[in-house]
Amino acid sequence: MSQTEYEVKVGMECHAELLTQSKMFCGCRNEFGGEPNTRTCPVCLGLPGSLPVFNKAAVEQVLRTALALHCEISLHTIFHRKNYFYPDLPKGYQISQYGSTPIGVNGYLEIEKADGSVKQIRITRVHLEEDTGKSIHSDGAGYSVMDYNRSGVPLMEIVTAFPPDIESGEEARLYAEALRSVLLYLNVSDGRMEQGSLRAEPNPSIRPVGSEMFGVKTELKNLNSFRAVQRGVEYEAQRQAAEIEAGRVVIQATYGWDEEKGVTVLQRLKEVEQEYRYFPEPDLIPIDFDTEYIESVRASLPELPLARTRRLREQYELPAADALQLVSDRATADFFEESAKAAKDAKAVANWLLGDLTRLANAAGTPVSETPVTAAALADLVNLIVAGTITGKIAKQVIEEMFVSGKTASQVVADLGLTVSGADEVAGIVAGVIAANPDVVAKIKGGNEKSRGFLVGQVMKAAKGRARPDDINRLMEEALANA
Ligand code: ZN
Ligand code: MN
Repeated sequence: MSQTEYEVKVGMECHAELLTQSKMFCGCRNEFGGEPNTRTCPVCLGLPGSLPVFNKAAVEQVLRTALALHCEISLHTIFHRKNYFYPDLPKGYQISQYGSTPIGVNGYLEIEKADGSVKQIRITRVHLEEDTGKSIHSDGAGYSVMDYNRSGVPLMEIVTAFPPDIESGEEARLYAEALRSVLLYLNVSDGRMEQGSLRAEPNPSIRPVGSEMFGVKTELKNLNSFRAVQRGVEYEAQRQAAEIEAGRVVIQATYGWDEEKGVTVLQRLKEVEQEYRYFPEPDLIPIDFDTEYIESVRASLPELPLARTRRLREQYELPAADALQLVSDRATADFFEESAKAAKDAKAVANWLLGDLTRLANAAGTPVSETPVTAAALADLVNLIVAGTITGKIAKQVIEEMFVSGKTASQVVADLGLTVSGADEVAGIVAGVIAANPDVVAKIKGGNEKSRGFLVGQVMKAAKGRARPDDINRLMEEALANA
């Protein structure tokens, strides 16, 4: 163990490909995958003489995101060229936004920690740029080929403020998760980290606890999951501490995360900003927003995940974990609320939705909101239980049948005759069980209370789950007293 205690500070750069029909500066289709180089044109191949025209839908998606992240909006904003040479960048520069007036500035995103506390992570900028092509490396054959389908896809970059507010691998993960869920709610990104449509690049640095100075940061890439974000930051903080403890220094560089080995690997020494020779893009006109347009976009924003989680918790008295799980997917949360409004017990709706319905949906590979069980049908099921028409045990059987047939709960119950047995019927069953087991009755009379469970079990079995436990216990009590 080292003598010095270190703390980690983590800045985050996230890139999200936008969900537009076409690319950022040309009419090529914006879609993941496909045969290499089938969605390209002179503009996104960077051929001489081609001219870019910006995609208004992409601008609006960035504006929506910036507003949702509580940013101030730059009324006048321009594009810049970021110059560097790499085969995935055929123009020799990336069109991006540099300097103090990207579309959004000075916002924040709130994360909720495991203990329920909320922390604000400040965001310094939200800007619009274009994605690069993709290099495909031959394994050991000594060459690489290029796919430019991704070249020119609209890309949004979201950067946290300095000094960093994120102070652990866990917070870095929570930030990435919270950001993804905002992007999904806004419908501006599909947020697929495993496909690279959302890329989180933390840059951790460490310093001795109590120090005023910040340490040298490194940038992490290839983090293809939330778990990788947390593990990568944690590993890198330890690696940096080990460097310092060994009398070496941390070098500013880009490291790739090796998921299998669980380590970071040096990729390249970091360029400094000057090397990009940024200058205003002469082929594009500036974007001038008018405030009326900004306000109309602001007014169209949906309720965002964290606010919705809080509201669901209060309005429906849900446990925090349930609310969080429901809200993580907007369609599931909508489904829940539609069902809860029609049901007499919202908590029970949440339980059935997150329990049996989710299990069935997962097994079928369908989203919960798209199974044959509608929100109204789930409410109907819960109402039948609340009314005492069916038992919870029978309801499990009913929902399976609903899932297969798409019938309502009431229909299934009527078709299969699953309503709760009346007290007379249960009393008859109890009498039969007692008559058939005189030795067990004698044991109970002799003080062996455990044997009572056996009789109850026999009654439940005979009633095929349709008898209410309360009824069984009460009638059993009466019958034993008279036996
Ligand atoms: Zn194109
Ligand atoms: Mn970028």
